[in-house]
Amino acid sequence: MKSILIKNILLDHKPQDVLIEGNRFTRIGENIDSPADLLIDGRDKALIPPFYNAHTHAAMSLLRGCAEDMPLTEWLQDKIWPLEAKMQAEDLYAGARLAILEMIKSGTVFFSDMYFNVPVTIRAVEEMGIRAAIGVTFLESNGSKYVERGLRFLENLPETSSRVQITITPHAVYTVSADLFKRLAAIARERSLIIHTHLAETRQEVQDCIAAHDMSPVRWLDHLGLLGPDTVAAHVIHADDYELDLLRDRGVWLVHNPCSNMKLGSGVFRSAEIIEKKLNIALGTDGCSSNNNLDMREEMKIAALLAKVHYGSEVLKVDEVFRWATLNGARAYGLDAGEIAQGKLADALIINLNDVRMLPCYDLLSNWVYSADSSCIDSVICDGKFLMQGGKVPGEELIKEAAKKAASRLATKNNQN
Ligand SMILES: [Zn+2]
Repeated sequence: MKSILIKNILLDHKPQDVLIEGNRFTRIGENIDSPADLLIDGRDKALIPPFYNAHTHAAMSLLRGCAEDMPLTEWLQDKIWPLEAKMQAEDLYAGARLAILEMIKSGTVFFSDMYFNVPVTIRAVEEMGIRAAIGVTFLESNGSKYVERGLRFLENLPETSSRVQITITPHAVYTVSADLFKRLAAIARERSLIIHTHLAETRQEVQDCIAAHDMSPVRWLDHLGLLGPDTVAAHVIHADDYELDLLRDRGVWLVHNPCSNMKLGSGVFRSAEIIEKKLNIALGTDGCSSNNNLDMREEMKIAALLAKVHYGSEVLKVDEVFRWATLNGARAYGLDAGEIAQGKLADALIINLNDVRMLPCYDLLSNWVYSADSSCIDSVICDGKFLMQGGKVPGEELIKEAAKKAASRLATKNNQN
């Protein structure tokens, strides 16, 4: 069992020592004197919980910047889906690795993914040491062959490390039928898997759902038996008061994706009402082609600014948005992580307090949410191991080269049509 002892690091407003043994924090306090495999000097540094990205599409990092200034429907149908149809396994692998590299460098240790080719994403996650909830995605417009393949995959799940969990990810109410939703809900409950879907993202989605089923998307999914504490719903912008109460009473986890919502012009998340009604809420970046990065720190700042410009400066305080991005993301996916405490899974960021963006430091969290950027992160620890140390991620150059090659293959294929 490997151990790490971090000495004299700022934690909870005072210098402390932190001992990690295996993949857990085992001792936190002053003057811990224990032999360890690795001794870290924590002076001029702070230890804080890392990010848990509750909704993304990792390999879409390869489509960064390929389609701008469009609403969701046209963006998906005219740009994204035709490009995705050309992506091969090696492209998805290169895209997933590029995404994970970016996530590690910006302080994220977990992501919840909704995309294609689960084995390729599992491979990238296992190799790079991050945590992930990897979704088996269902989108009926892709054809029954893909649906059958997904269902077969769920019947015989692969062995993975404890860092990986499989989820079921029906894409949305406009791409998945009632029968398939019900079938997936039954499988999820039988196998104790989380269901993760897009919900109530645009006005168009709401209008179309009412026209088709005489019910809004939230009411429709409740009618189909989808909503429960094991359901994660991304976006949830267009929900009325009754629907917010319903989502709270069912224990559903909402994921706020402010950058994507603003960029696609989807609408304003109801932060003030959601806080007041005490819904479960986490934060996510969504995919790289609607954000266009995977930086959860930036997402916190933009979530807070959006709430303030819409509701007033007292809404979505620093500690609250930080909790959405950290502890709540871990809780949404059942991880015993997201806070630095004895017995918890050893995930943490070491922040450089001498970075110009962290000075002066009247309030660490306020600097972290509003002032910092990724360059303030010295090191990233996940599951008791360094994923980045002193700003370096092993294999970074190879990952970037592979992503450039995959993107140029994709561009060539796209131009040939
Ligand atoms: Zn999404």
